[in-house]
Amino acid sequence: MQKMYEALGVSRAVYEYGESVLAGLRERFDAIDATAEYNQAKVLAAMQKSRVSGACFATSTGYGYNDLGRETLEDVYAACFHTEAALVRPQITCGTHALALALGANLRPGDELLSPVGAPYDTLEEVIGIRPSPGSLAEYGVTYRQADLLPDGSFDFDAIRAAINDKTRLVTIQRSKGYATRPSFSVDQIGRLIAFCKSVKPDVLCMVDNCYGEFVERTEPSDVGADMTVGSLIKNPGGGLAAAGGYICGTGPCVEACARRLTAPGLGKEVGANLGQLPGMYQGFFLAPTVTAGALKGAIFAANIYERLGFACVPDAAEPRHDIIQAVTLGSAERMEAFCLGIQAAAPVDSHVTPVPWPMPGYDSDVIMAAGAFVQGSSIELSADGPIRPPYAVYFQGGLTWYHAKTGILMSLQKLYERGLVDLRGI
Ligand SMILES: *Cc1c(COP(=O)(O)O)cnc(C)c1O
Repeated sequence: MQKMYEALGVSRAVYEYGESVLAGLRERFDAIDATAEYNQAKVLAAMQKSRVSGACFATSTGYGYNDLGRETLEDVYAACFHTEAALVRPQITCGTHALALALGANLRPGDELLSPVGAPYDTLEEVIGIRPSPGSLAEYGVTYRQADLLPDGSFDFDAIRAAINDKTRLVTIQRSKGYATRPSFSVDQIGRLIAFCKSVKPDVLCMVDNCYGEFVERTEPSDVGADMTVGSLIKNPGGGLAAAGGYICGTGPCVEACARRLTAPGLGKEVGANLGQLPGMYQGFFLAPTVTAGALKGAIFAANIYERLGFACVPDAAEPRHDIIQAVTLGSAERMEAFCLGIQAAAPVDSHVTPVPWPMPGYDSDVIMAAGAFVQGSSIELSADGPIRPPYAVYFQGGLTWYHAKTGILMSLQKLYERGLVDLRGI
């Protein structure tokens, strides 16, 4: 085994350090496997209940009227997330699009949007108009308010109560930390937050940005009162096989509003050719619990590898997990570049290229991204990225298999080690 890793470029010292870390993780890996087994049964039951058949994989073109495969896939998502309805489309281009769609469809001029969990994900700043941007919700007369988390990362219920007012129409809750070094929230915590918001204002809509959270736990935000649960198909629920897309699972009226906004009033869910994308969307969803489990193991392995070397990790090496993201605070741009170079060098695709920071659209500082993915930009595949700004944290996620995630983490350490940016002596 060590020779195989050596052939990939991992030195003996790094490999042996990795094995010593791994020896302490068996119990946690068993628990992850049990969650995957539970969620596999959940997905399977949803597919059976929705009567998925060979006819569902047919391509539709043009308007896409009477698309059995598209309608059945939406039934499968709704059954799995326990919602009245779902919108699952390759025409939803990414997670940001899905979130912008859910917000734009369910807010009207004069309404107010509240984030009770601090600042939202970077790309939503322009969607909301926190950073002025043509076409933002702000331009359409939707105001925004935010209640920051308390210093320990918990909800500030007093501030949230004070922020909810007559205009508050929709509450947006981000499950994953995104590019922040705050904790991610458990489904249970999200449930308590939703219940609190609805106790203050019963008719307020609650939307959860579920990106990177799907199948990490046995329940989803839709099980604890979310009106809309939203995510990207090139993250967990696409299982690495969906070529593109996003989903919104939720109440009938909310999802119907989203469909009318995605297509047009009067058309709604009735149109939208599947363009041959359905087999990957179905099969990816089927594999998603297992793929997510591999990514989770990788995240835990990374935290244990790097924390022992003195780098702060969020979540830390021992904490329970609510998403597949692992933040590692490396403290310098140089270490971020070495880490990303290692992830890139471990990829099955584009392993020969060198990631460099660039001014990525939607982000306000340069971002470095390492990914050698079968699907462009897919971050359920092994990837690492982060904005080049203090505290110089990389966000590591994905891995279609645990073994590949492991290789990537060992390679990241290898690059740091070769450049003298970590010290493996004495551990
Ligand atoms: C990935 C992500 C998004 C959406 O990003 P896209 O790159 O547009 O898919 C939104 N919120 C969170 C927390 C995310 O992780």
